[in-house]
Amino acid sequence: MDRLTCPVSMAGVTADPDTAQTPQNAQTAGDVVTMDKLVSLAKRRGFVFPSSEIYGGLGSSYDYGHYGVLLKNNVKAQWWRAMVQERDDIVALDSAIIQSPRTWEASGHVQSFTDPLVDCRTCKLRFRADRLDEEECGRKPSKHPGETPDCDLTGARDFNLLFETTIGPVREQGSTVYLRPETAQGIFLNFKHYLQFARKKPPFGIAQVGKSFRNEITTGNFIFRTREFEQMEMEFFVSPAAAETWFEYWLAERMRWYLELGIRENHLRLRAHDNDELSHYSSATDDIEYLFPIGWQELEGIANRGDYDLRQHSLHSGDDLSYFDTETRTRYIPHVIEPAAGVDRAMLAFLADAYDEDEIEGESRTVLRLHPAVAPVKVAVLPLVRKDGQPELAREVHGQLRGVLQAEYDEGGAIGRRYRRQDEIGTPWAVTIDHQSLEDRTVTVRDRDTLAQTRIAIDDLKPELQRRLDEPWRSPKLRGARS
Ligand code: ATP
Repeated sequence: MDRLTCPVSMAGVTADPDTAQTPQNAQTAGDVVTMDKLVSLAKRRGFVFPSSEIYGGLGSSYDYGHYGVLLKNNVKAQWWRAMVQERDDIVALDSAIIQSPRTWEASGHVQSFTDPLVDCRTCKLRFRADRLDEEECGRKPSKHPGETPDCDLTGARDFNLLFETTIGPVREQGSTVYLRPETAQGIFLNFKHYLQFARKKPPFGIAQVGKSFRNEITTGNFIFRTREFEQMEMEFFVSPAAAETWFEYWLAERMRWYLELGIRENHLRLRAHDNDELSHYSSATDDIEYLFPIGWQELEGIANRGDYDLRQHSLHSGDDLSYFDTETRTRYIPHVIEPAAGVDRAMLAFLADAYDEDEIEGESRTVLRLHPAVAPVKVAVLPLVRKDGQPELAREVHGQLRGVLQAEYDEGGAIGRRYRRQDEIGTPWAVTIDHQSLEDRTVTVRDRDTLAQTRIAIDDLKPELQRRLDEPWRSPKLRGARS
């Protein structure tokens, strides 16, 4: 678990008061966008807002606006597509957020889902004891906690990251339950159902996307680390002998997923955990890391969890979660390979990777060079002027397209400004209706990255856009946007 964080001066965004952090791992690659720019674009264009702003905000809590929701949904849809739609060995699950508390006793979370915490009696901030050299003391000029004679740090104590609440109408008599800190355990609890009802047998996987909650000591870096976040996790159940091969397979598959969605290969890497980093249950874990504005950080973890989880739940529940292989006539507890990704963190990586600035006819523009599949809006339909029948034809075209693609109609303001607006939210294509469109029912399609304008017949628009959407895509930032 890598918990590096850094301060973000958030153009109007309420900073988390209990986190003061430093960009220790900050990388020097010239084309890495700053977090400030991302935060400001996200707010300006309605991707992400600080939560509860009218009440002064709640540290590191965010609300996703219209384009943020569309982008996030696209990321999740692409994950479901790769995990379930394009395969026949993985099935879906949506388990409860609040589960029997015994789940978390069996999984080890109640006892050991902890981080070491120290308090500073002087600045009253709390820090991860094992990351002091990466955090920033609350006083100015800022130093790492413990670096100045004024710092007065307590000894480290274990801080459990589980969020607790009670179930039942009378608080005092209710039983303690936990908000799930990961989606994975819900999958293990349902393992038996899938053997029985889905008639699945190893190797097979169960995939789940949903909210998880961790009372992180230090949050920050915008949506990189928050206390409420979404995960995309898949548990792949295999025979013990096949575990290693499948682990390697999933490392390659998950890397491929990010690359095919356009993440630049020089901003993505695999990093194997050292032995002292491994969780007690894991025999191997690799992180897929992305070069975020704060440096190389975990984007997704892929772990070989062995038979730990099913064995623990068998022991604690008394239910036998072993599998009898009728072909080899052997009984075993399946081993598990788990690719576990964060939706919000993936979204941050897509935004960071896509953010670009260039100049068009002497005017600077900000553009999100997103893969069309994840872009919130695929096509904007714009009448050149708001008269002469152009808006009516544009509305007709918009009506045709919106049934198959996320399309947006915009007639307000100068055409250049409308293009800029679409560039900023990453819309790959803009269809413009002009005077010629009314004569011959053709329109121009403007490409966000090359700026090429192609004239095509309205009747050909749908198949043409669909064709472009299905094409392999490579970030224009790698080859120079207008080459
Ligand atoms: P980290 O080391 O960054 O704390 P982790 O190793 O604890 O992450 P996992 O338990 O492996 O994370 O969770 C899988 C994924 O869930 C992570 O790779 C990350 O993308 C996402 N994730 C975990 N914790 C958070 C968080 N607090 N905020 C946002 N995303 C998170």
